Amino acid sequence: MCGIIGYVGSKQAAPILLEGLSKLEYRGYDSAGIAVFSDDGITVKKSRGRLSVLSEMTDSGTNVSGTVGIGHTRWATHGEPSDVNSHPHLSSSGRFAVVHNGIIENYIPLKKKLMDKGIEFVSETDTEVVAHLFEYYYNGDVIDTMIKVIERVEGSYALGILSLDQPNEFIAVRKASPMIVGLGEGENFIASDVTAILNHTRNIYYLEDDEIVVLRADGVKVYNVDREEVKKEPFQVSWDVSAAEKGGYEHFMMKEIEEQPKALAETINPRIQDGKIVLDDISLTADYVKGINKIYIIACGSAYHVGVVGKYVIEKLCRIPVEAIVASEFRYSDPLITDKDLAIIISQSGETADTLAALKEAKSKGARTIGIVNVVGSAIANASDDVLYTWAGPEIAVATTKAYSTQLSVIYLLSVYMAKLAGRIDDAEYTKLVEEIKRLPELVSGILEKKEQVQYLASKFFNCHSIFFIGRNLDYAVSLEGSLKLKEISYIHSEAYAAGELKHGTISLIENGTLVVALATGDALFDKTVSNIKEVKARGAVVLGLAKADEPHRQDSGDYVIELPRVNELFMPSLAVIPLQLFGYYVASLKGCDIDKPRNLAKSVTVE
Ligand code: GLU
Repeated sequence: MCGIIGYVGSKQAAPILLEGLSKLEYRGYDSAGIAVFSDDGITVKKSRGRLSVLSEMTDSGTNVSGTVGIGHTRWATHGEPSDVNSHPHLSSSGRFAVVHNGIIENYIPLKKKLMDKGIEFVSETDTEVVAHLFEYYYNGDVIDTMIKVIERVEGSYALGILSLDQPNEFIAVRKASPMIVGLGEGENFIASDVTAILNHTRNIYYLEDDEIVVLRADGVKVYNVDREEVKKEPFQVSWDVSAAEKGGYEHFMMKEIEEQPKALAETINPRIQDGKIVLDDISLTADYVKGINKIYIIACGSAYHVGVVGKYVIEKLCRIPVEAIVASEFRYSDPLITDKDLAIIISQSGETADTLAALKEAKSKGARTIGIVNVVGSAIANASDDVLYTWAGPEIAVATTKAYSTQLSVIYLLSVYMAKLAGRIDDAEYTKLVEEIKRLPELVSGILEKKEQVQYLASKFFNCHSIFFIGRNLDYAVSLEGSLKLKEISYIHSEAYAAGELKHGTISLIENGTLVVALATGDALFDKTVSNIKEVKARGAVVLGLAKADEPHRQDSGDYVIELPRVNELFMPSLAVIPLQLFGYYVASLKGCDIDKPRNLAKSVTVE
């Protein structure tokens, strides 16, 4: 959510800031701005709307000269998206310029205090208090001042600040909001994530909460809140530049859909050695797994849908009770989680605010935590007892595809691994399950080869006003994701229902021509789902079914049927989700929607 970039070096800053912000666009934003040290002080250019407006305003950055600057894309939380609410914000005298990602939760009393001292506010943002506070406390030393400011503010922040008295440097800090430091040759950066600076450097520092960074062209110094210098180890990022470029695709989403076989192979293959699952990253023992009382899978959005699949799979294989729960609900529910429970925390970015808070809540009650995240060194990765990384590479499209798929594959590996450890499955079953997981990348690849069929079906249904997704058990879990994928990018109202639950109310919404997407990929429940399909058809629904290609009665699953290859039933979600991602994509494309940046959405949700 929102993007921050900062540059100090010998090149012109503004074009670099604009380029960096363009790489962060995917995170979601509604306004953009930059501040650069120019000959006559700090020049600020900002505007609501797309980055192209800022780019035009500054002639692609060429009419703002200076080699030190900060930039921001805002996703409004306090105050509407407007020119004046856009960042950077200046202190009253114009001495400090501030960009901020996050929320200053106690900004109201701080604002009141500052206004009582006669300071005038020009925006409605929480951020502006930081600019004024900085000036209020400034004693000629920016590090001391920063320490005072962060002692006063509560909430989450990634801050980049220019100070008129220090024209060769800028200062930054973060807490519960993402920000990394990029280390170049004679130039240094801050950025919300590495995609913004990959063109310049792969050497980075991850920052702990409240570590303060002073960046100059010739070096970076990091301090703690006691003003002691902190020695940081640089980290070498392996993502390459092309991973964050569209590479000929019309949208990142399609590129990322197509990347799924590779991402799955990179996540699965290193963890299967000589037919055995090797999870070096975690240290579970047989006794520990046997003693788990309950597993909580905690996440938001699509990652939560992975959790719903996980519930069925882990319960089936490990016979341990599992609850999949939305992080924003878990954190405030005074959960009954204890030190006998395991919490599995799933987040692509590893920065999702609610998920991070839920992780802390679970830990505070003594539960062991395993993070499943895609971004190395992210807050959730750092705070979890153990981490299982998904190796999906950068995911740029707001609607997740490859992160979802790789998270699912990690859940499968973990489930089978724990089931074996706890002795809940025998060697023969274990071997078979491992083999089946290994086949997933290739099977997904085969489904993608037939994507034109889904494109054709999308062309028949893209004018629908409302679409229902139904399925039972694992098929229901995938329905949740199929429905979300469709609605988030195509803006078509859509709901997912447990197939057997429809007749308890929702079936009254089915009328002539309503599209129902029915997942009937399981063996045991195929007939049961077909009964539900008949029920909606009898009320006028048109049904698009998903069934296994070798299911003798597959034609009963819909008026149109998408056939899927057979894999162990527990892993069918990995296959079934692919046509649903494609369906959402093609429908949105036919409707002319902004697929990679759907309205109102942000990629990593770093506020609650
Ligand atoms: N809370 C700040 C605002 O509304 C920052 C929002 C953001 O993270 O972009 O201006």
